[in-house]
Amino acid sequence: MHDFIIKRAALVDGRQVDIAINDGKIVSVNETQSSSELAKKIIDLAGKYYLSAGWIDSHVHCYPASPIYHDEADLVGVASGVTTVVDAGSTGSNDVDDFYRLTRAAKTHVYAFLNIAKTGIVTQNELADMTQIDKQAVSEAIARNPGFIIGIKARMSSSVVGKNGIKPLVRAKEIQQENNQLPLMVHIGNNPPDLDEIADLLTQGDIITHCYNGKPNRILTPAGTLRESIQRALKRGVRLDVGHGSASFSFDVAELAIKQGIYPHTISSDIYCRNRLNGPVHSLATVMSKFFSIGLSLEQVIRCVTENAAQALRLTHKGVLGVGYDADLTIFELKQQPQVFSDSEGKSVTGEQYLVPLAAFVAGDLVLTDEGKLKDVFSL
Ligand SMILES: [Zn+2]
Repeated sequence: MHDFIIKRAALVDGRQVDIAINDGKIVSVNETQSSSELAKKIIDLAGKYYLSAGWIDSHVHCYPASPIYHDEADLVGVASGVTTVVDAGSTGSNDVDDFYRLTRAAKTHVYAFLNIAKTGIVTQNELADMTQIDKQAVSEAIARNPGFIIGIKARMSSSVVGKNGIKPLVRAKEIQQENNQLPLMVHIGNNPPDLDEIADLLTQGDIITHCYNGKPNRILTPAGTLRESIQRALKRGVRLDVGHGSASFSFDVAELAIKQGIYPHTISSDIYCRNRLNGPVHSLATVMSKFFSIGLSLEQVIRCVTENAAQALRLTHKGVLGVGYDADLTIFELKQQPQVFSDSEGKSVTGEQYLVPLAAFVAGDLVLTDEGKLKDVFSL
């Protein structure tokens, strides 16, 4: 007897399956018709609703005590169908333990990229003073929080680094080497430092976030082609992350890049309370939906928040709808209806379809979104 069976779930690859869950893990995924298993609870999606591995947002801000970029994990997480969120550097070694403690009650899985600056983002210029980077304190914080800190973060734009240029990134690479080659996420924005200088320091598995930002220090040259430094970085296995945010996503840059085959590896929101409530982010689903009008298929979009994200973050037990993986699942609809989307540059695009998350399973527990509560299918 299983805990849950979800019947006739539509997958983005066109298949229809029944999925059984037990003790927080996926225990079977079978083509519908062939399964006749029993469960304490059964949901029948009747082939009408999509299901994927649980959505992972690789770049959020959800340290509730942050003076600038605060939010609640469940408001950026399960409330919008996101089963795992990764906070991108809100805290450094000073506050990461407090962050861990404050998010234990959340239903959403919460992980952190540790800011290499000990204060995290308390002010906007956390790397303008090199004494903020205390290698010893970083290593100790990582050792104290295994399984919570999954990477390190360095924000490399002029407003953050002040006169220090590329120096904080050199230090970040040293920290990475000394700490098991943890994933390094690098925020890009206005120069200095110049993007070419940043890109040339990155190695396999490093993540460039805000990859489609519209600032002059963007991944495209003024002629609209991909910078050679980024071409070289991609060949080395550097990954591109969207990190939409209030100021870091341009429809024009994303569209032009995607036309040249420069796809995002991960789609993330850079969400926190203000851009969630006032836009232009709103939710991960909204950010994902923006990619339909600029050349990505449903399968590609979903892959960016499941398999690709799990790989980038080395969450080896997540991101795949397969036996033995965590029972983190997202159930959603694809609504065929015009919807106006705005980027961070004030440009609007009318899309023809958008994603509506209805429910999520987090480690086997069902959580409904507001929209999901209206659907009879979930009344157990
Ligand atoms: Zn951010």
